[in-house]
Amino acid sequence: PAGRTPLIAGNWKMNLNHQEAVVLVQKLAWTLSDKRHDFAAVEVSVFPPFTDIRSVQTLVDGDKMKITYGAQNVSTQESGAYTGEISASMLAKLGCSYVVVGHSECREHFGETDETVALKAKIALKHDIVPIVCVGEGLDVRQAGNHVEHCTAQVAGSLAGLTDAEAAQVVIAYEPVWAIGTGETATAQDAQEVCAGLRAQLEKLYGAEIADGVRILYGGSVKPNNVAALMQEGDVDGALVGGASLSVEDFAAISRYY
Ligand code: PEP
Repeated sequence: PAGRTPLIAGNWKMNLNHQEAVVLVQKLAWTLSDKRHDFAAVEVSVFPPFTDIRSVQTLVDGDKMKITYGAQNVSTQESGAYTGEISASMLAKLGCSYVVVGHSECREHFGETDETVALKAKIALKHDIVPIVCVGEGLDVRQAGNHVEHCTAQVAGSLAGLTDAEAAQVVIAYEPVWAIGTGETATAQDAQEVCAGLRAQLEKLYGAEIADGVRILYGGSVKPNNVAALMQEGDVDGALVGGASLSVEDFAAISRYY
């Protein structure tokens, strides 16, 4: 639907230094231009580590690239004595369009909770950065058949405290934990089931108009050979790509799925 421009987002995780980042982004831009990629039809975004963002910004601005970029995390705090943290205003200054919040790796390794995710989403929006709010169930929840309930509860918790106008801007990413980095992809039907459930949850929380406008991405071992089927589903508006985003060839092919 209009307003839901598909988004292909590449989460590099803790890979590539700033020089490698410049090489990848430059090659990606060339490859997409070779493929006559239509950026108005499908947005392409990269999520480098913090240390690479300044270099990516300089390259993107200098070459007037249409690729957008964001960060993989952000502090819940505005500024101050939070050693090691990076604030939303710092990311805004670097031209970040997006920030990933609540990635399952952060939930698992760094104690990220729905409460902290909601604070991060709120502070990002305050600085005009769109949060990509990640949710997803582990294998145990999937096997018990509670995946939709699990993810809809995560969405409610992770958006708590947002105004309707703020909620209208967020991007949601459904990333089943069992499919991340495992080579195990949810089927297009599995992805659609949860993404439709998430949209129904958004409708319950914010009404149909807002729910219809929010982009919901699927993430979990998205590759050139499975992206098209996923993107055909009515409630899947893009992909959050981990491993395959480190290969220019694969990420360009995923971006050019249409
Ligand atoms: C991710 O990190 O968000 C992800 C989906 O990783 P992968 O594509 O490697 O499964």
